[in-house]
Amino acid sequence: MLLPCLACESRFKPEEYFGACSDYDRGLDRVTWTCPTCGNRDDLRVFPGELCFGAAGRGRFDVHDRVRVPGLRRHRHEVALDISLDRRHWHVPMR
Ligand SMILES: [Zn+2]
Repeated sequence: MLLPCLACESRFKPEEYFGACSDYDRGLDRVTWTCPTCGNRDDLRVFPGELCFGAAGRGRFDVHDRVRVPGLRRHRHEVALDISLDRRHWHVPMR
């Protein structure tokens, strides 16, 4: 499946999409995603089966949009988030 940029509506294969994740914030359970096409930055949470886009502030995370990603899994570590989909894995370190 292809994953969208919510700003410019470009679509990306998972390896390109999750390779653009950075700066895992464990307290907020949030990663930053930077669109390879338009440079837009989104804050998102990775959950089993879906991505939740939103805004972080005052220690909270308010979800605005959800994108279903069947088979998506995540594993939280002390200093990183591991994302897996279709036997592929991505490692998002803390900033
Ligand atoms: Zn974009």
